[in-house]
Amino acid sequence: MRIPEIQMNTTLSAIRSDFPILSTTVYGKPLVYFDNAATTQKPSAVIDAITGYYSETNSNVHRGVHHLSQQATLAYENARKKIADFVNAASDAEIIFTRGTTESINLVAWSFGEAFVKEGDEILISALEHHSNIVPWQQLCLRKKAVLRVIPVYDNGELDQEAYMKLLNDCTRIVAVNHISNSLGTINPIKGMIRQAHERGIPVLIDGAQGISHGPVDVQELNCDFYTFSAHKMYGPMGIGGLYGKKDWLKQMPPYQCGGEMIEKVTFEETTFNELPYKFEAGTPNVAGAIGFGTAVDYLGNLGWDFIRTRESDLLNYATEKLSQIEGVRIIGTSAQKASILSFLIGNIHFFDAGTIIDQYGIAVRTGNHCTQPLMDRLCLLGTIRASFAFYNTREEIDLLAEAVLKVKELFA
Ligand code: PMP
Repeated sequence: MRIPEIQMNTTLSAIRSDFPILSTTVYGKPLVYFDNAATTQKPSAVIDAITGYYSETNSNVHRGVHHLSQQATLAYENARKKIADFVNAASDAEIIFTRGTTESINLVAWSFGEAFVKEGDEILISALEHHSNIVPWQQLCLRKKAVLRVIPVYDNGELDQEAYMKLLNDCTRIVAVNHISNSLGTINPIKGMIRQAHERGIPVLIDGAQGISHGPVDVQELNCDFYTFSAHKMYGPMGIGGLYGKKDWLKQMPPYQCGGEMIEKVTFEETTFNELPYKFEAGTPNVAGAIGFGTAVDYLGNLGWDFIRTRESDLLNYATEKLSQIEGVRIIGTSAQKASILSFLIGNIHFFDAGTIIDQYGIAVRTGNHCTQPLMDRLCLLGTIRASFAFYNTREEIDLLAEAVLKVKELFA
């Protein structure tokens, strides 16, 4: 769907005004925020929901008969329902609140690993993974004497699907791959990958840290066994996120952390555990975060995926074209299916040097290995400059980035 230019601009300026930080300045220049893959900015609705909770409802959840505790519990559980609906989970009990993607993956790697992984088993990840979807599995392999296998990646950033099929075997206990690569923007064909793993009875975890903010995620349609996400990359607060897990798996997995809330009955001799999802939510949860997260999901729902996807693909195409026209600029990651994440290098100029100059324009881009050191090794790079776009960014901001890139070239000529 193509949104007419004028309607778009009117809507866009209204949308931009929802995000207070977008009208701030850096070095006296308007902020241009192109680091959305690291974390997105927060609309006033989310900020207000958090302030509102602490101003009017703050209380511990699931523990009191008093009015405030009941209100806080309702709001917390209502947020869980919003997230469950957002990813179309079959039940609210399949959504576990965590600190974010990293904690969600660690939870599965530890708990699933404890129950199902033994010596000689294989864990299959990909060469495109963020450290968060490598290290927990590597540690599991060390604990259990299991073997970490890696799906190779082509130079353009696409995973080698033939190699993937060959790597799936009777020893593979779980496949863990990302939905969208944070470094290159590759959108992986996860539906087919999940189907292929399932044909061999192998469960699949999808690292959805990047995937969930660029398009609809329907966990039942994907049929993934686990899907992990972080609210702060979805226009929600930091310190909260979630794990979707199929009930059948979650029921068989032991608790990851122990303490209050996750128990049913405790004696000094033994403990029985609470039902799902509470079995995996030990201690006082981040209630304000969950409420802010629920509000972020409402905000995205109001904008709609048509709008978000139209904006983001326009920005990606425009930026790709604009930067490609500059001599010496090399785009890293050119997969056919790509999200609004653009990694590039300028000649032989070090990405930190380039980033420092770009920053002087008030433009926030990411420079470095983006927590994907093995991928950078595979591409024979130390790092890249990464501009990642959100629906609130504009073509004019991309023009400014192009200007800054020309300046970098001039200074380092
Ligand atoms: N996986 C991917 C693909 C990511 O982009 C990130 C964040 N950069 C993570 C995992 C980790 O997310 P968080 O730091 O929010 O736990």
